[in-house]
Amino acid sequence: MKILVINAGSSSLKYQLIDMDTESVLAKGLCERIGIDGSNLVHKANGKQTKYVAAMPDHTVAIKMVIDALTDPEVGVVSSLDEIGAIGHRVVGSGEYFSAPTLITKDNLATLKMTFEFAPIHNPANYMGVTACMEAMPGKPNVVVFDTAFHSTMPDEAKLYAIDYQDYLDYKVRRYGAHGTSHKYVSAEAIKYLGKKESKIVTCHLGGGSSVSAVLNGKCVDTSMGFTPLAGVPMGTRSGDIDPSAAKFLAEKKGMTFEETINYLNKKCGVAGVSGVSSDFRDLQAAAEEGNYRAELALNIFAYNVRKYIGAYTVAMGGLDCIVFTAGIGENSSYTRAQICEGLECLGVEFDKEANEVRKDGVNEISKPGSKVKVLVIPTNEELMIARETLALV
Ligand code: AMP
Repeated sequence: MKILVINAGSSSLKYQLIDMDTESVLAKGLCERIGIDGSNLVHKANGKQTKYVAAMPDHTVAIKMVIDALTDPEVGVVSSLDEIGAIGHRVVGSGEYFSAPTLITKDNLATLKMTFEFAPIHNPANYMGVTACMEAMPGKPNVVVFDTAFHSTMPDEAKLYAIDYQDYLDYKVRRYGAHGTSHKYVSAEAIKYLGKKESKIVTCHLGGGSSVSAVLNGKCVDTSMGFTPLAGVPMGTRSGDIDPSAAKFLAEKKGMTFEETINYLNKKCGVAGVSGVSSDFRDLQAAAEEGNYRAELALNIFAYNVRKYIGAYTVAMGGLDCIVFTAGIGENSSYTRAQICEGLECLGVEFDKEANEVRKDGVNEISKPGSKVKVLVIPTNEELMIARETLALV
């Protein structure tokens, strides 16, 4: 079966068409500036890139253009829409309305709308992607795959905040986590590689946004992001964990409203805020190597906090078999991986500095042979995971 994977943003829409018999990508592309002047679609298939410039007033028109590109006699990859078996959609927040990938029906479409308050920037756009596909391809099954779903197995003591329990019941304020599709994909790949389902794995999704998860026997038992992606380890521009009273103190000193303070913590903090250089780890590493103290400090704060979560999750799982690195930093920064792992000898990690510098496709083992804890670099593939979840439901 061929599955179309859609990741809709407010003015953009990414897509991939995946052949599930071979799990290979037949075509992928990006619509930009939907609802804005100058909208365009860049479509890649058969080693060729094609750019279409056309008005896309809304997501339904964008989806129609995607269909046109996929079925185009020259650059298309299917002869008719009938070849597409189902559509899988990324959705960011679920609240407690959904705890697993879900086949969309007339009834639960209304429930999907109720999740908006849990991801007000992303979910309305994700929803538009779903309704646009229902309109442009009537009768095709649509499956929604939530970033939070993999974390729904967390036990109560990990997912609940120590707030008035009634407030949790009334407002569903708790830890939901994010990047769940990525944590699920790389932990599943690690389990395959280790050859045993019974395993204690810490997955480190380190990119523009970063999160760390504890995966016990294939199920998530804790994760570092919280009610929103602002919590956990420091990130490119997000502070990560911070005492709320420190935020109030800063708001008063800087004359910021509540809204502005949250924006400050999301956009002006993290390694960018500490360093004053950049949110990009390549820039930070270059600056640190030139002796920039604040760039070095930002990298040190980041690595220290990731190590702290790895330690905490080792205790949460009662041991550790494997650490997985993935996403932009996790897959590419040997510098940061070394910084994190060189503090973990006490957990049984024997880090292989040379293997860490080698780039490989697929799973790359960067611990020494015989290390009690294996350290793996695994490229994430959220689109393939969404397609797998979609296939499983249809
Ligand atoms: P992502 O959000 O997963 O796309 O990750 C993006 C981030 O990965 C960038 O902001 C960089 O900080 C980091 N990154 C990407 N490539 C490299 C690299 N070669 N070395 C270090 N960091 C990288």
